[in-house]
Amino acid sequence: MLKLYNTLSRKKELFKPIHKQKVTLYSCGPTVYNFVHLGNLRSFVFVDLLKRYLKFRNFKVLHVMNITDVDDKTIKGSLKENKKLKEFTKFYFNAFIEDLKLLNVELPDIMPFATNHIEEIVSIIKGLEKKGYAYRVGGSVYFSLNKFPDYGRIALLKKQNLKKNASKRLDTKDNYEKGEANDFVLWKNWRPEDGENYWETEIGKGRPGWHIECSAMSMKYLGKHFDIHTGGVDLIFPHHTNEIAQSEAYTGIKYVNYWLHNEHLMINGNKMAKSLNNFYTLRDKKIIKFNPLVVRIMLMRTHYRQNLDFNLKNIEESKKIAYKFIEFLGDIDSIDKVKNDKKFNVAKTINNNRIKLLKAMDDDLNISLYLSVSFDFINQINKKISLLSLDQAKKIRNYIFEIDSVLGFIQELYTQYNKKLERTLKNNKIKKLMKERSYAKTSKNFKKADEVRDDLLKLGVEIRDAREGYILRLNNFLG
Ligand code: AMP
Ligand code: ZN
Repeated sequence: MLKLYNTLSRKKELFKPIHKQKVTLYSCGPTVYNFVHLGNLRSFVFVDLLKRYLKFRNFKVLHVMNITDVDDKTIKGSLKENKKLKEFTKFYFNAFIEDLKLLNVELPDIMPFATNHIEEIVSIIKGLEKKGYAYRVGGSVYFSLNKFPDYGRIALLKKQNLKKNASKRLDTKDNYEKGEANDFVLWKNWRPEDGENYWETEIGKGRPGWHIECSAMSMKYLGKHFDIHTGGVDLIFPHHTNEIAQSEAYTGIKYVNYWLHNEHLMINGNKMAKSLNNFYTLRDKKIIKFNPLVVRIMLMRTHYRQNLDFNLKNIEESKKIAYKFIEFLGDIDSIDKVKNDKKFNVAKTINNNRIKLLKAMDDDLNISLYLSVSFDFINQINKKISLLSLDQAKKIRNYIFEIDSVLGFIQELYTQYNKKLERTLKNNKIKKLMKERSYAKTSKNFKKADEVRDDLLKLGVEIRDAREGYILRLNNFLG
């Protein structure tokens, strides 16, 4: 039974989807004014893990992720580069997709742009006005907190503080602190600094606020009431607080059943953030030298509700995890003898392991336990590896790929690794050294054999003697 931690109740709750086998899932996507940083990517890798696990559990998932392509930052960026807003944001959107692909994140089914949904946004704002939840001042439209008694529940806002602030109005900014919980903007009146970025609509000339975008796009594609909404913890207030208020005020029914929030990726004790200028993107020199799937492992291997520190030790640990799977698959694939240990029941070992995997992830996606249960399996098999039949090896390989349907890096890394190994072994210098070493070994010239081993190591090829021949490892494959 899958349990997920719901920010609404601050408890782990049994997951029951609205439709029997289909899960409706919405994630707050990026603001496309720059490359996304590793902190942002943590939240997208988390959703990927959630989605993959829901599928592992045989749910169908309809996943929507919005693209914020109009706000102060995108407008400022496009004006600075003298580009049309669409052209400017398209560039960063494409870069975002490239980054997701590098991390082997399954793309959302629908990625709506805010600027393509102005009609839906205006229609909700008009509905809110009609019901008395919204009012106009100076060409902008605001949501009235007073009218929505349940405001701030998800962010644990205190009612008396809200009362103190009642009837005050924020200026048109989209992000603010809890103490400033005032009426927030739904529609922003045009200002000269917006340039040509405005829409002439029934509610005036201007552009949408940030929060209303997500209500409009989630409800358009998933319905007024859907299963799961995700985002980083920084979005609980004000973004998700406002999303709930305006959506529920508009529809009169509950908006979302489960709110899942990932903690932050930290760096030197601070949240990784553009505003703090302490961020890395996948394109930075310091990061690009690593295989991006190592970055995926690093972002994923810590439970999503724990702070995660970005540091080199963490990257090294992630490489070890990657090698563990690659080497195991290599060993399994090199089984070429038809032996059979009748006493070793592979199917039973797999079934027992699968039960433990499910138990780990059913507990609010306990990924570290999932990984250690997978390693238990590898260790169990390794003890029997010299006795396995080809058929048993095939079952084991398939099971590792089943494990990978949740992890999303093993198969891809293994394919990349084998391609690189093949290319490396075709390299003349390496071919010559390998020959020299094998000659040195057969003529029992161990000093020479060791020297050649060191030369190979300098070229990134580690060679280790095994019971039957040797095992090769590409040492710089993961960066
Ligand atoms: P933004 O483009 O700023 O709206 O952020 C996109 C997503 O990244 C949101 O879900 C944020 O909560 C999330 N996010 C931003 N910074 C971090 C961080 N340092 N660690 C984890 N998630 C983050
Ligand atoms: Zn959002």
